[in-house]
Amino acid sequence: MSNRYLRNLTAIPLLLLASCGGGTKQDEAQIPTPMFSPPASQPSFSGETAMRYITEQVTFGPRVPGSPAHTECRDYYVKHFTDLGWETSLQSFSMPGYEGVTLDLHNVVARFRPEVQPRVLLCAHWDSRPFSDMETDETLKLLAVPGANDGASGVAVLMHLAEILSATPPQIGVDIVLFDGEDYGKDGEESMFCLGSKYYAASLGTESAPLFAVLLDLVGDKEAVFPREGFSEQFAKDILDLFWSQAAALGLKQFVNSRHSPIIDDHLPLNTTGGIKAINIIDASLVGHADANERRKYWHTQRDTPEQCSAATLEAVGSLLLRVLFGLQPST
Ligand SMILES: [Zn+2]
Repeated sequence: MSNRYLRNLTAIPLLLLASCGGGTKQDEAQIPTPMFSPPASQPSFSGETAMRYITEQVTFGPRVPGSPAHTECRDYYVKHFTDLGWETSLQSFSMPGYEGVTLDLHNVVARFRPEVQPRVLLCAHWDSRPFSDMETDETLKLLAVPGANDGASGVAVLMHLAEILSATPPQIGVDIVLFDGEDYGKDGEESMFCLGSKYYAASLGTESAPLFAVLLDLVGDKEAVFPREGFSEQFAKDILDLFWSQAAALGLKQFVNSRHSPIIDDHLPLNTTGGIKAINIIDASLVGHADANERRKYWHTQRDTPEQCSAATLEAVGSLLLRVLFGLQPST
């Protein structure tokens, strides 16, 4: 996500008005009201399995668009979801990148029981940042970020979640989208961030919208803190309330009730262009090295490695998703 928070929020109410005026691709009136009651039981989530998926992704090398690692890791995702029986496809598109290159980007779209309504959309970005611009050493700045927490952690949770859902389907439908090109932009160039989610949101058709979307970003740190992120609060407060209340019910200490300023991330195009209520579960103080903890100052550096992450944090995030998914009832 971008280092720069959107400080001037005057544009946002206009965007909201546009969506209310029929400017969105999806009719909000079609969205059934989610019914939630805490599930009597839910499958267990293995943080160790999700950790393994972080390591496997990082082992390909940084997933920088145009690199062999990018292609190989994309195919690894497609195989993972296809083998689980999910309807899996690539949403591929090209656009101009920096220095005259043509960027070939691919969102990975995996749908579980596509006929089931209503549905929930779960997402994360899978690309790695092409440069480590938060390093102080000029040589290191030129290297791509390993992206263990920034990218791979959210995908890892969703990969394992898909396995669990395949074995034990919830009552609602689930779509997983892995966005490409989230972290391509140079600092301050907002138009070059969130490329995959912008394309996805602009391409939505007239099919029924999901109840809501949940974005996972930076969800693996061993001392993670997830505050209530500003855009989530603004666009999808009821969904944020649902997740944070259920995190409290599970005793998940990582989810705190403090409010964090808005962060430009893949949930923003879903909310503004796609008309989908989307929240972001994000370890916000990693962004911009705002955290006081020296170890946690690794965002957009070479130190974004699996060692920063823990099975316990991944398990907390995965367990929360499972609790909500298994507590949602079709409202027919
Ligand atoms: Zn990033």
